[in-house]
Amino acid sequence: MTTAETNGHTTDRSAALFTRAEAVIPGGVNSPVRAFKAVGGTPRFITAATGAWLRDADGNDYIDLIGSWGPMIMGHSRPEVVAAVQEAAVKGFSFGTPSTGEVELAEEIVNRVDPVDQVRLVSSGTEATMSAIRLARGYTGRSKVVKFAGCYHGHVDALLAQAGSGLATFSLPDTPGVTGAQAQDTIVVDYNDAAGLEAVFAEHGDDIACVITEASPGNMGIVPPRDGFTNTIRRLTKAHGALMISDEVMTGFRVSAAGWYGYESETLGYPEGPADLFTFGKVMGGGFPAAAFGGRADIMAYLAPSGPVYQAGTLSGNPVATAAGLATLKLTTELDVYSHIGRAADKLRPAIASALEAEGVAHVIQSANSMFSVFFTDTDVTNYDQARAQNVDRYTAFFNSMLDQGIHMPPSAFEAWFLSYAHTDEILDRIISALPAAAKAAAAVPEAGKAQS
Ligand SMILES: *Cc1c(COP(=O)(O)O)cnc(C)c1O
Repeated sequence: MTTAETNGHTTDRSAALFTRAEAVIPGGVNSPVRAFKAVGGTPRFITAATGAWLRDADGNDYIDLIGSWGPMIMGHSRPEVVAAVQEAAVKGFSFGTPSTGEVELAEEIVNRVDPVDQVRLVSSGTEATMSAIRLARGYTGRSKVVKFAGCYHGHVDALLAQAGSGLATFSLPDTPGVTGAQAQDTIVVDYNDAAGLEAVFAEHGDDIACVITEASPGNMGIVPPRDGFTNTIRRLTKAHGALMISDEVMTGFRVSAAGWYGYESETLGYPEGPADLFTFGKVMGGGFPAAAFGGRADIMAYLAPSGPVYQAGTLSGNPVATAAGLATLKLTTELDVYSHIGRAADKLRPAIASALEAEGVAHVIQSANSMFSVFFTDTDVTNYDQARAQNVDRYTAFFNSMLDQGIHMPPSAFEAWFLSYAHTDEILDRIISALPAAAKAAAAVPEAGKAQS
């Protein structure tokens, strides 16, 4: 694939594919945010990807800042990963019996994340969180689950629940198809709200099976834990006999070799101890459907076949997926990918800030180690209400300007900018040179609440 700027091409073929897709796939996409509803226009249909580049059906090339929403930490079509996949594929696709690769991938995860003694492999992050919650309920014999507003844990019924305003509310379902019964055992608290969490435990402590949290939230934009909030969750769960589930599907093996756990345990430290259970996905599958949940051996022993809590999967531990995941994880440490991405983020963040400052665009850049996102707002964002208060129209203008200049950002204002090992200095310079025009486009959108007259 050439890296020439070919964005003088039309997008007619993508548009035609989207029309065909809309006829046979609801909304034309197999995951809602791909549809460009938040940013206008129609999505690009990608036909090939190499390194940091995507090519669409019309032959346009884009620098990729989505990275499949996290997994492609090595860049696309990384030769060593392609070779591992090919080698696995010629030996058979799926056996329905134990196989070598799943042992190796489980060992790699257990070796990286200290508090994880055992993992069970599954095929998606959704399955991982759903199963972890079932296990927590089975282990504790309790029913209630606490989650935080703005944290996304996949499309698990009980976790598609939204808080009303105020402190903590028993949830109403967030979507038709989730019943009141499925949502009524879910309690939603604002993220970083220690007093709110304390109040919920004071009232319902004996009924709470677990608190599930994104290790460092990344699905409302990057909203890291403040004032030792992770330790607050740990202290309260421990005091009330509830489990703590740290969802590292996004951060795991991305923000450090041991994910957010590795980063936070080394920086802040965990005086109250680590979470009981962890969930992983995205990077650990290297772009294939592989995910996992794991943790303390005495809890994991409750899972079938060693224990009573049922959990299963025809394709769990799939040999091709585990080969891709293992090859990806090995490369991240062999090539010191975490330092590379850290340096890339350090180069990009100030360039974004100065481009936006030059145009007087209010913004806050928030980070979880090397992961970062940009909020079009003027105050720090500590929870979902504040995240939603940003000026999303400005993001839309920024996004579309970047896309016109051949930079494909996530089509949502509430996502990280996903970097990879393939984002070299040359690629970053191209991104940086696109920023002034995108900042100008954002500046042309009136500040929220100040409609142009
Ligand atoms: C992506 C994500 C999930 C869901 O994973 P899927 O593989 O899309 O089901 C769960 N939790 C977090 C934190 C995620 O970022």
